[in-house]
Amino acid sequence: MAKILVFNIGSLVTLETLAKEKRHVAISAEDLSIKSNAWLAVGQGKILASGTGVVPPIYAQFPQLDAKGRLVTPGLVDAHTHPVFGGDRTHEFAARLDGKTYQDIAKAGGGIKYSIRTTREASSGDLLDRCLGLLKTFLRHGVTTVETKTGYGQNAKEEIRCLEVLAEAKKRVPQTLSVTCLGLHDQPKDFADKSEYIKHMTEELLPEVKRRGLADWVDAFVENGYFSVEDVTPYFAKAQSLGLAIRLHADEFAPSGAAEAAAHWGAASADHMQKASDAGIKALAESGGVAVMLPATSFYTKIPYADAARFRERGCPIAVASDFNPGSCYLSNLPFVASLSALYCGLSPYEAFVGVTWNAAKALRLEARKGALAVGYDADFVIHELNTLEQWIADFGQTDPSAVYCAGVKV
Ligand SMILES: [Zn+2]
Repeated sequence: MAKILVFNIGSLVTLETLAKEKRHVAISAEDLSIKSNAWLAVGQGKILASGTGVVPPIYAQFPQLDAKGRLVTPGLVDAHTHPVFGGDRTHEFAARLDGKTYQDIAKAGGGIKYSIRTTREASSGDLLDRCLGLLKTFLRHGVTTVETKTGYGQNAKEEIRCLEVLAEAKKRVPQTLSVTCLGLHDQPKDFADKSEYIKHMTEELLPEVKRRGLADWVDAFVENGYFSVEDVTPYFAKAQSLGLAIRLHADEFAPSGAAEAAAHWGAASADHMQKASDAGIKALAESGGVAVMLPATSFYTKIPYADAARFRERGCPIAVASDFNPGSCYLSNLPFVASLSALYCGLSPYEAFVGVTWNAAKALRLEARKGALAVGYDADFVIHELNTLEQWIADFGQTDPSAVYCAGVKV
């Protein structure tokens, strides 16, 4: 783990103030702790120090890297992705553009059920190759930590196989992966009865996930037309009894009480949240959870965006993630998604940046070492081809970074 001094940084975004105060709400421009004419010292994969102007002699002797006056930021954190799937659903996107409705597509065997079928048909090697390719794309956009979900296996055996793919991916990529078992996504055809299916996933899948340490999180799609709060209660109760941490898909299409339930279960995050009730947002904030907004899904499927003002008013931390998946959001560019969140959800540029770094790290409970460039934090950082954060938010992810570092190593 080499030592590095990054010098000649035009604009260094550290988020030190937020890290020091452990604060995730009421974000203003000053909170980003942006330093001009700055330097950053790294050693043993961690941030040692940063500052402006003349470099102290102790760091001046490190091997040097010229940032050429560019913007340097923490590596981005994508807190919600679905990168393990077989097949392809781009034909569904084309069909929708050609006037077909979701109902038409579902009737023709499309949607999540299509991905379940094609995932089960795919070999583990093919699933892994696809997943690795996607993680490489995320990295190219400066994403150094990724939450990765299963969700297209949908029986115990196939979900375990998808988790094994993620375990293998974890060994092969430079990024930090946070792994989620999305056991209840959509009822597959092999279970005629919903309660029988939920019972199977609760009793067969979760204990095995715990026994083998295959996931950091247990998730469910708590949405109208999929699973109600009542449906998922035994599943999450089992997860809790096993000591598995919880996050969930909540209130994307209608207020179903999922945000309130997320708070009740102590979920680290409730994701989507466009239709969450005011009480649900308040309860989530009070429970220490994070609302993860997924604006690219709204963009891709033309459904309403979450309104940041409702969350800000209730003191609820906001993270922003891609929701990359084969059907409702085939968009992997997190900087683009951050710009979308500012444009359509009403986040300030500074809230949007914090949403894909510091608050996203909190959504994954990694805020003690990820999402900021504070002393002692992991040296995950990005040297951009841009000069300022304002340029970054206006760029919509068009400009690839010039270098990405994970734990102090160029990747
Ligand atoms: Zn999702």
